[in-house]
Amino acid sequence: MRIPLSIPVLEGNERDYLNDCIDSGFVSSVGPFVTRFEEAFANRIGRSHAIACSSGTAALHVALRVAGVQQRDVVPVSDFTFIASINAINYCRAQPLLVDSEPSSWNLDGDRLLQYFKTEASRGRPLPSVIEAVHILGVPFDHQPLSEIREAYAVTIVEDAAESLGASIRDKMPVGAFGELGCFSFNGNKMITAGGGGMIVCDDPQLAERARLLTTQAKAPGPKYVHEEVGYNYRMTNVAAAIGLAQLEQLDHFLASRARICDRYRTALGSEEALAFPSPPPGATSSHWMCSFSARTQELRDKIISNLDRAGIDSRPVWLPAHCQPPYRSARRLGRGTCEVVSSTSLSVPSSVNLSIEEQDRVIDVIRNSIERSGRQNK
Ligand SMILES: *Cc1c(COP(=O)(O)O)cnc(C)c1O
Repeated sequence: MRIPLSIPVLEGNERDYLNDCIDSGFVSSVGPFVTRFEEAFANRIGRSHAIACSSGTAALHVALRVAGVQQRDVVPVSDFTFIASINAINYCRAQPLLVDSEPSSWNLDGDRLLQYFKTEASRGRPLPSVIEAVHILGVPFDHQPLSEIREAYAVTIVEDAAESLGASIRDKMPVGAFGELGCFSFNGNKMITAGGGGMIVCDDPQLAERARLLTTQAKAPGPKYVHEEVGYNYRMTNVAAAIGLAQLEQLDHFLASRARICDRYRTALGSEEALAFPSPPPGATSSHWMCSFSARTQELRDKIISNLDRAGIDSRPVWLPAHCQPPYRSARRLGRGTCEVVSSTSLSVPSSVNLSIEEQDRVIDVIRNSIERSGRQNK
């Protein structure tokens, strides 16, 4: 049987909760599971408010708007991320400032961004008022330079934690609890799924209220259809929330399984000089969402992917940098070089929660053989 990259495992209360939805007739965007999911989620991240959305992209779009992003604003974001991070900025008609990766975690280079703020400030130029900081592939970004930027320049930070639910930035601070607003995704391949969906978390009641308003067509309370501004139909359905809640109940189990799988890859392959694994900054822990690593050359990376494919194993390159995507070719950039190299040499290998040890050994064998053969060819 083919080994998939990452598939959801639905072995908790999903079926029971879905039956509740059908029995009660609450299948749409009103229903008790939406509130239950929001409360459980806010609790888990340790924040006062959670607003369920129809997708992670919708959550980001609304969070950026609530953070105050306006047309033509410049919003710093990772160049190396899933395209939805950048699209959300575009939906606000703002401009992304694509920040290169730092080589150890592959996340946005915060020191470079701090330098940018210092230089721009010293020249009296207008500074970005919002940063969208992404935790890519489950690995938290280094919060230190971002904290410094926030303190010195009163910047609002929106965390894109779509891939990293369960990771922590330091000791007791989960991802999503660092920024003024945090966003998550429950797409089919994320840490937990709701079929599709997203969540915004925050502590400020006014931000929460406005986020809730914007996700529900900005309809003023009351029976009349009064809309003071343009909102969106971004509310999560009760059916999605039922699945999401059942999945959230299993998060600790998912985290433990994924950590075990990633550790096993690292133990088996970490000493290979031909490979390099991204690592979280000091004090942070990964959610181990994807097991991704880079190969010494693009040729070796491509060889590993094609050998895995021939052995019936799914793997895939990590993304292209956003500046290589046609809609963002002319976007402004800060730093260059690191994410291009990571992008052309990195891949993700199977890491589903239910991946068996035998299956994982098959993956490891193919990778080892690929490295060995390429080594021999190079001699
Ligand atoms: C998946 C993802 C999103 C978007 O989430 P959807 O629920 O698919 O809309 C945003 N940012 C990152 C980094 C993601 O991986």
